[in-house]
Amino acid sequence: MTAAKEYIESVYQKVELRGPHQKEFLQAVREFFNTIEPAIENNPDYIKWNVLEQMVEPERIITFKIPWMDQAGNVQINKGYRVQFNSANGPYKGGLRFHPTVSESILKFLGFEQTFKNSLTGLPIGGGKGGSDFNPKGKSDADIMRFCQSFMTELYRHIGPQLDVPAGDIGVGGREIGYLYGQYKRLVGPETGVLTGKPVVMNGSLGRTEATGYGLVYYTEEMLQANNKSFSGQKVIVSGSGNVAIYTIEKVHEYGGTVIACSDSNGYIYDENGIDVALLKDIKEVRRERLTSYNKEGSRYIEGSVWDLEVAYDIALPCATQNEIDGEKAEKLIHNGAYCVSEGANMPSTLEAVDLYIENGILYGPAKAANAGGVATSTLEMAQNSAHGHWTMEQVDEKLKQIMVNIFKSVNETCQEYDLGNNYLAGVNITSFVKIADAMIHQGIV
Ligand code: NDP
Repeated sequence: MTAAKEYIESVYQKVELRGPHQKEFLQAVREFFNTIEPAIENNPDYIKWNVLEQMVEPERIITFKIPWMDQAGNVQINKGYRVQFNSANGPYKGGLRFHPTVSESILKFLGFEQTFKNSLTGLPIGGGKGGSDFNPKGKSDADIMRFCQSFMTELYRHIGPQLDVPAGDIGVGGREIGYLYGQYKRLVGPETGVLTGKPVVMNGSLGRTEATGYGLVYYTEEMLQANNKSFSGQKVIVSGSGNVAIYTIEKVHEYGGTVIACSDSNGYIYDENGIDVALLKDIKEVRRERLTSYNKEGSRYIEGSVWDLEVAYDIALPCATQNEIDGEKAEKLIHNGAYCVSEGANMPSTLEAVDLYIENGILYGPAKAANAGGVATSTLEMAQNSAHGHWTMEQVDEKLKQIMVNIFKSVNETCQEYDLGNNYLAGVNITSFVKIADAMIHQGIV
C-alpha cells in the first residue's frame, strides 16, 4: 500500500469512528477518498498538513428548535440545522432543504460535496448546507410562512452576506426564500445579499430558477461533445419533477433530445413523444399538484421508480434525490442502452452504481460538477446585489454557460494530467480537492 493510500484509509477510519451511523456522510467521503490518491501522491504537503482530516470535519454545526403554530392551532416543533462546512474559499454557501428525511448525516454529506462543487465554479465561495425535517408537502401558504418565519428567527444570527448565504434546495423554492427573507428583514434590516434564489421582484437574479437544470445540460453537452456525441436525437430519462428536473427537460428539448420520462417520489410519467414542459410547469409550479395530474394523450402514469422502466434510451439525468440509483437500477439502466449518466441531484447514485458506471465506461457527470450551475448563478445573484444592479436573462445565461464549459475544461485537463482517460469522476474529485487543499494550506491550521 502506498503512503498516500495508507493516509487516506487512516483518515477514513477516524471519520467512521466519529460518526458510525452517518451513512450518507460516510458514503460521500468514501466516494471522494476512492479517487484522490494520485493527487496526494503528487504533493507531500497534503499529508504533512493532514489536509484530509481537516477537510472532513465541518467548521461548525448549528442545530436549533423551530416552534410554530399551524393554522389549526396545534403547536408544532421541528428541528433546524446549518452546517458551515468549509470557508477556505469564501463565505459558506449552500441551500436549505425542507424534507422529513433531513438529518445531520444528510446535511454533512451535502455540505461536504458543496464545498468541492463551489470550488469548481472558480467563484469565491465556501461550502455549507442547512434545513429542517419540516415536511412542506400539502401545507397551506400560511403554514409555510409561519414555519419559515420561526426558522429564520433562529437562523438570522448565524448568517450574513459576507459570512453565510443560504439558498434553496428540496422543498425550498422562491416562495420559501421570499418568506425567509421577509423575516430576516424584520429582524436585521434590508440586506438583499443574505439569501439567494430570491424571487426576481425581490432582487433575485433572472435565470436562477433555470440555472441548475440548464447548467446540467450545458455541462453534459460539453462532456458528450468531447466524446463525439451530443444530446441531439437522443432519448433521455430525467428523474424528479421539481425545480432541477423541469429546467433540465426544457433545455434537453432545446438541444434536440427527447425526454421520454420524469418522476416524483410515487411514480413516473412515460411519454414517448416527449414530456410536455408547459403542462409540467403548470402542474408543479402553478397548481402545485402531483404528477398524476399529467394527462396528456399518449402518456402513461406508472407507480414505482423511473429507473425500473425497461425501454431503450441513451442518457440518464437523475434529478430527484440521493441514492435513487442503486446497483440493481444502474445495471438495468446500462442494459437499456444508456451510455451517459449525469447528475442534477446530489449523490443520486450509490457507491455500487458509481462503480458500475466506471467499469462499463459510462460517460459520467458527477453532481459536484454537473449540478454546479445553481450555486454558480446564486453567486451571480450575490454579485448583482452587492453592485445594486441587474443583469438580463441573456447575460446571466451566458455567464452560466461559460462557467459550466470551464468546469468541464478543467476536469478534462485533470484527466489528461493524471492519465485518467475519461474517468471524469476522478477528474472532478481531484480538480476540486487540489483547489480546496491548496487554499487551506495557505491559511495555516485554522
Ligand atoms: P424540488 O423539491 O423542487 O424537487 C424534488 C423532486 O425530487 C420532486 O419531484 C420530488 O418528488 C422528488 N423526490 C424527492 N425525494 C424523493 C425520493 N425519496 N424518491 C423519489 N423522488 C424524490 O427539489 P430540487 O429540484 O431543487 O432538487 C432536486 C435535487 O437537486 C436534490 O438532490 C438537490 O439537492 C439537487 N440540487 C438542487 C439545486 C437547486 O438549485 N435547486 C442545486 C443543486 C443540486 P415529490 O414531489 O414526490 O417529493
